[in-house]
Amino acid sequence: MSDVRNVIIIGSGPAGYTAALYTARASLKPLVFEGAVTAGGALMNTTDVENFPGFRDGIMGPDLMDNMRAQAERFGAELVPDDVVAVDLAGDIKTVTDTAGTVHRAKAVIVTTGSQHRKLGLPNEDALSGRGVSWCATCDGFFFKDQDIAVVGGGDTAMEEATFLSRFAKSVTIVHRRDTLRASKAMQQRAFADPKIKFAWDSEVAAIHGEQKLTGLTLRNTKSGETSELPVTGLFIAVGHDPRTELFKGQLELDDEGYLKVEAPSTRTNITGVFGAGDVVDHTYRQAITAAGTGCSAALDAERYLAALA
Ligand code: FAD
Repeated sequence: MSDVRNVIIIGSGPAGYTAALYTARASLKPLVFEGAVTAGGALMNTTDVENFPGFRDGIMGPDLMDNMRAQAERFGAELVPDDVVAVDLAGDIKTVTDTAGTVHRAKAVIVTTGSQHRKLGLPNEDALSGRGVSWCATCDGFFFKDQDIAVVGGGDTAMEEATFLSRFAKSVTIVHRRDTLRASKAMQQRAFADPKIKFAWDSEVAAIHGEQKLTGLTLRNTKSGETSELPVTGLFIAVGHDPRTELFKGQLELDDEGYLKVEAPSTRTNITGVFGAGDVVDHTYRQAITAAGTGCSAALDAERYLAALA
């Protein structure tokens, strides 16, 4: 059985590495499980990040995450490129089990496992991510000035993305599988009133085209099966997110959509000594800087919790 650590951090996106940096600088020697396949988190799958403060000319997503990782390591964070496969968080000493079955113990745990954006499941979708295909209008809208863009989805997020993108774009086509929207009336009205927004009703994306950059889509009518071509250079996929909370079900309190509940503005969960930060908690903002910000808060909350135990 391993020694009891001060703090274990599960997840290695901006929230996890920021929590690691702060707890390491507080001499808490954090152990960080980075994930086996996706160490570095969501930004490892993108190209330019232009809205993380401190980088005047922008920075590539993987470079930003390498910097965060190195900064946390410099102050003594112990980083393990492995998944956590089980947790027991109830007692004063929490346990976390890795893929080899080794059980690690800690007085505090910070959960920063992020959320997974839902994909369409089409060939080329991943290859053109950051090259025309995006899941975040706030992050990437600016790159699509005066271009023709498609947004897939029929809920509030899709309407919000479309109305935001219409500020930059030449045109925005909302592609929706049905002939009515799920979005709230207010969001629908805003979209209907926007002269740049068009609708492709009863339609789904059948194919994504392009080599180095997105050049267009094939749409399929869900009723007739007929196909048509939509020449666009931007595709924003807004069909939902799945927070990575499977591991914590039955222990940590989750909301109806599976996001981790915290006692905002703190990062405390329903279990003493367990804290949550980043996109696994956040329905609303889902930005690298907000994830890093709450990662900092979780580290400070954990630090204070540990100090009170001493
Ligand atoms: P994530 O970055 O998702 O990291 C979670 C980590 O937890 C992952 O490494 C995962 O492997 C790990 N993990 C999960 N489960 C386990 C487990 N059981 N054991 C161990 N590890 C685990 N935001 C911006 O501000 N600007 C942008 O330009 C921008 N561009 C984006 C482009 C794309 C394509 C995407 C998908 C997102 C983009 N975002 C951008 C959003 C931003 O990436 C996220 O808001 C941010 O990464 C969330 O950080 P996080 O730390 O909460 O989670």
